[in-house]
Amino acid sequence: MPIERTLSIIKPDATRRNLTGKINAIFEDAGLRIVAQRRIQLTRAQAEGFYGVHAERSFFKDLCEFMISGPVVVQVLEGENAVARNREIMGATNPANAAEGTVRAAFAESIEANSVHGSDSLSNAANEIGFFFSESDIVG
Ligand code: ADP
Ligand code: MG
Repeated sequence: MPIERTLSIIKPDATRRNLTGKINAIFEDAGLRIVAQRRIQLTRAQAEGFYGVHAERSFFKDLCEFMISGPVVVQVLEGENAVARNREIMGATNPANAAEGTVRAAFAESIEANSVHGSDSLSNAANEIGFFFSESDIVG
């Protein structure tokens, strides 16, 4: 299976509840390697840029407000099929539909405050990683 990299974000609802370590342990136990990581406060411009694909959605303004409501942890996860694997580990967007054992089933507060972001394709992963990290930040 191919080794891939994907962009993960631990969202403000999770950093607020001090869940960074618990979520990272889930990634690591599932075989993903955290090859870059930084805790940051997103600016509104960064949040709007990152979620630009959702600009026309009704929840866009609230989502950006939520994403700047506290610190986030941006990270690059590496491993076999990391993009799809991380989406499995995260669970469905709406925690009500998230499978047992997933991060969102365990920790998400709502469909918006759902604890983690993960890239949804290999090409989006490359773009999203580039949004936050340069190649020299990533140590595999
Ligand atoms: P995912 O994060 O699972 O890839 P999307 O890309 O569809 O989900 O949406 C991006 C983020 O926008 C979600 O993780 C969630 O925080 C928020 N979101 C999605 N749908 C809704 C909704 N119906 N109401 C409020 N927030 C939403
Ligand atoms: Mg998405």
